[in-house]
Amino acid sequence: MSGRTCLGCAAALDDPFLDLGAQPLANALVRPEDAARPEPRFPLAVAYCANCHLVQLTETAPPEALFGEYLYFTSFSEHFLAHARAMADTLIARFALSPTRRVLEIASNDGYLLQFFQARGVPVLGVEPARNVAAVATARGIPTLTRFFGPDAVEEIVGGFGRAEVIVGNNVLAHVPAINGFLDAVAACLTPDGAAVFEFPYLGDTLARTAFDTVYHEHVFYYSLAAVARLAARARLEIFDVDLQPVHGRSLRVFVQHPGARPVTPAVARLHREEAAAGLTSAARYTSFSREVAKLCRDLTQTLRRLRADGRRLAAYGAPAKATVLLNACGIGTDLLEFTVDRSPHKQGRLIPGVRVPIRPVEDLVREMPDFTLLLPWNLAEEIVAQQADYLRKGGAFIVPVPTPRIIDAARMPRADL
Ligand SMILES: [Zn+2]
Repeated sequence: MSGRTCLGCAAALDDPFLDLGAQPLANALVRPEDAARPEPRFPLAVAYCANCHLVQLTETAPPEALFGEYLYFTSFSEHFLAHARAMADTLIARFALSPTRRVLEIASNDGYLLQFFQARGVPVLGVEPARNVAAVATARGIPTLTRFFGPDAVEEIVGGFGRAEVIVGNNVLAHVPAINGFLDAVAACLTPDGAAVFEFPYLGDTLARTAFDTVYHEHVFYYSLAAVARLAARARLEIFDVDLQPVHGRSLRVFVQHPGARPVTPAVARLHREEAAAGLTSAARYTSFSREVAKLCRDLTQTLRRLRADGRRLAAYGAPAKATVLLNACGIGTDLLEFTVDRSPHKQGRLIPGVRVPIRPVEDLVREMPDFTLLLPWNLAEEIVAQQADYLRKGGAFIVPVPTPRIIDAARMPRADL
């Protein structure tokens, strides 16, 4: 036992099954002028609660450190925007949203999702704690409260905007250490027949893909349906539908309501059964995951070292949080990678935390023509490979790190020599 208690049910927590040691904050990209200064590091370890199945970090970093200046602007990914538009269309149709039925989004980012509701006349309110990101949303005409959502935000939301027919939280449930109070606040902001829709990276998929690079300080929780269902019940809410979405690998979308508001779909019981069969509710599965992670890191670094020893030039694509995690956890730095590239001008010119790999514009890939490029946002691999047809045509190749390292070249076929 770790001596710590579960953030969901307060039971004693098992020892972490995955311990990545002291790691820098994954999104705290380093300015070149700060390159010589050490950055803050926080422990990064994940444990499984055998009592309520909630997978969680054993320690959390201070929220001010995590969200003060958040450089991830969702709108930069075409894939993500298409997904957001589809989500808005689906929710407008399913819950009969209209100019008199409101949508509240928690962690609304730059308004990437609410813009699609607003364009169809649905009243919207965003809640976004990152000041610089909320300012972008407000400038775009999306009403946004700059604050953390939780019990102390209920009065301002219900008083100023009203209870919402639909509450959306994309990639937020994983970020909130005080999860019980958060869900109590969701219940308080939801109309009696309302639906809260949460989407988050699905733990079942994380395990299946050995996608340990989704483990970072912002992500306090790694959810199975089993764990979310228990948390919802504690807030007197009920999951009435589930849907797996092809985003960030595979995300789980859960639909939550006041109990009995509408029938529960058969998909809920089906996924509960699948999770039990896949071992998500047993500690042994997490131990085997940890072994798979160690093997992935070993295989990947050996491959890169071999290529480097053969005189090949290596670079990376992308500077998402998962890049920081994977490069630092596996110990892949500037001894192997010359640089990484990213489409976001906010990231270009900075350095990946910890390993200090410089981030350059995407055009530098074709300009420099590294022989191999480690494709770090593997969830966007298809989109990136399509955008980089030139690089591949000229002889470049991508290495996709998970679930096991594989090469994509001009023929887009995994090559046998890896
Ligand atoms: Zn628990």
